Amino acid sequence: MNLNALSFDWDDYDGRLRSFQKSQIISIMNDYYNSDINVAKIISKYSISKNVKRLSKEFPLVFLEERCPYDGSNLVKQMPSRNGYSIRIPKCPICGHELKSDCNCNGCQEKKKKILKEKRKIIISNYTINTDKVKYDNLSVSSKIFLSALLHAGLNDEATEISGEKIIEEKLAPTNEFDQIILDHLLSENIILIDPMSPIDAFSVDNFPNEYYIFKVNYLINVETDSKGIGYLEYPDRNNIIKYKEECLRIWKQIALYECLEYLIKQMKEARFEFNPQKKTRLVINHLIEEYSIGQIWNLIYGSVNNAAAWYQKSNVSKKHAANSVITTLNNRGDRAKAENWKLNSYHRSYDNKLSQLSMVFFDSILQIGSEGYEKTPSINLINL
Ligand SMILES: [Zn+2]
Ligand SMILES: [Zn+2]
Repeated sequence: MNLNALSFDWDDYDGRLRSFQKSQIISIMNDYYNSDINVAKIISKYSISKNVKRLSKEFPLVFLEERCPYDGSNLVKQMPSRNGYSIRIPKCPICGHELKSDCNCNGCQEKKKKILKEKRKIIISNYTINTDKVKYDNLSVSSKIFLSALLHAGLNDEATEISGEKIIEEKLAPTNEFDQIILDHLLSENIILIDPMSPIDAFSVDNFPNEYYIFKVNYLINVETDSKGIGYLEYPDRNNIIKYKEECLRIWKQIALYECLEYLIKQMKEARFEFNPQKKTRLVINHLIEEYSIGQIWNLIYGSVNNAAAWYQKSNVSKKHAANSVITTLNNRGDRAKAENWKLNSYHRSYDNKLSQLSMVFFDSILQIGSEGYEKTPSINLINL
């Protein structure tokens, strides 16, 4: 190492070699970097204090070409260790700014604040929607039910807005896909709005601010509330909903589809089959929902997945092939059960599978049929005042 080419910060030098003269320190450095003398010998050669454990850390800091972005001073760096393994971070001798992403110097703190302020401005201008509040009486049955479930799951303690994080903690719907459908529906009708004051990191860095994380942003409720307040939205009057029987039946079937998909995904996972439900899976389940209860379809799913797992165990068939057979088997078992009049027991929810807020609101508060929602085939005859 050519020490002559380096410029050292002697003015601020405060290392343990400070009792030595400059020229002596240079000689020590020369021995350290440019000779084979081992460190213990160097220490005894110059009678350096035994307290010095790592010699390179006691050398003066060296000036770098790079300058501090805040005050223009040349940055300094500790001298490397002899083997060159240790990482030395350049630092500003004036303001303490360090060349690392998490530097917390005043300059960096101010810079971060400024960036956040600018980002907030962009979010506000993108997500502030000038729209009148929606009239509750104009909402469709699905909107009323979805909103009620969303408030059950995500309303914050101050009852001012819906927390994206709580939606997932409290399980809005049986699957995340259904969560998204509910949120998209309510957003498209302006019943809820993205809160422009949501955490900045709820918005994607790559496509800022157009993309956001649906379980990280918060949502504002954009519905006119009269003297009855928000409770009216969370606990809607069932009489006004239940009279729309066709729409209630449609929602029952939609919940049934996602309850079955959730169960199927879980069973496939337990059998260690790779699985991502496609259109055909939905067709098969929707077909079964016309004949069977959610609990009975769980029974059919359980049998189909276990058949495939056993087939995979006992034969040379590939795992993928066995996994693919599940949906066909499920379809066939459904038809067979009907043709042969099987007595299909309703399976129950496993203890570790939390009930969704939507299922509870719908079966317990709206239809008021409780567990029959899972044990009976969806039918208009069960939707009564
Ligand atoms: Zn500086
Ligand atoms: Zn800094």
